[in-house]
Formats: sequence, C-alpha cells, structure tokens
Amino acid sequence: MFLTIHALFALIFIKFLPNPLWAFLFGFASHFLLDAIPHGDKEICQWDDEKRKKMMPRLALIDGLIMLAFLYCLQKNLQLPLLSGAALVAGAVAPDAISGLLILFFKKPLNNPWEKIHIFFHLVLKKEPIPMKIGIWVQLAFLIAILYFLQLLYK
Ligand SMILES: [Zn+2]
Repeated sequence: MFLTIHALFALIFIKFLPNPLWAFLFGFASHFLLDAIPHGDKEICQWDDEKRKKMMPRLALIDGLIMLAFLYCLQKNLQLPLLSGAALVAGAVAPDAISGLLILFFKKPLNNPWEKIHIFFHLVLKKEPIPMKIGIWVQLAFLIAILYFLQLLYK
C-alpha cells in the first residue's frame, strides 16, 4: 500500500498510544496488517530488479510528498500529539523504508529474509496480487474511510 495510507491509518489509533515506543511498534505492526489487504501491486511484483531500482525511489518520493501534505493538513486541523504521532508514522512506514534501502543497496533486493517476510504478508489473504487499476480504488476507499474516522475521533 501507499505510504500515505499506512501513515494515516496508524494515526487513527493515536488516542490509545501516548507512549512513543508503543506508538512506533503499533505503527510497525499495522503496516503488515494493511499490506495483507490486496491493494494492487501486481504490476510492481512483475518488475525486474533494474526497473525496481529505477522506479521505486520515484514512487516513494511522490508518495512521501503526498503523505507529508496530508500530515501537514491533519496536524493543522486536528492538533494530534506530535511525538507519538511522529512515532506512529515512522513505525508505519519503516517496513517499506527498509525494503527501499534493500532495493537501493543490494543487487538482488527480493532475495533476502526481510523481503520474504514482507511479501509473505502481502500474499497472506490472496495468493495473487491484484492489478493496480483495481487496487487504486481499494486504496482510495481506505483513504476516504481513514479521513472520516480521523475527523470523527479527533475534531
Ligand atoms: Zn509494505
């Protein structure tokens, strides 16, 4: 899933996680929970290592900037606790950040224990990834639902 969805989803639970360490760990765990929902990475799974190295940093940059824009707006409107919020977001995006570093610095980025665990969670509910043209709607529905819950809980 997009970093934006991971980060915003984790923030729903900020009320229950005043401790930054627990917030980070919860965010980290929530990443794998969300990754288990089919979200349209069929095409990305088919990329070879070279294309992966070229495209993933670009995707991550765009996604990261969108995430930061959402976080800025949410913080302006809802004034969520900063420290535990930052810890939640850091935890929620950490698994993909680790994968990103492996992609950048290793020749065979998918052939390591970390990525095997990461991929395992992607395929735990559905053995075949779904196409992006369907997944984008799944993620959009999540985004709308998450924004609704954040307003409901923290406005
Ligand atoms: Zn992930």
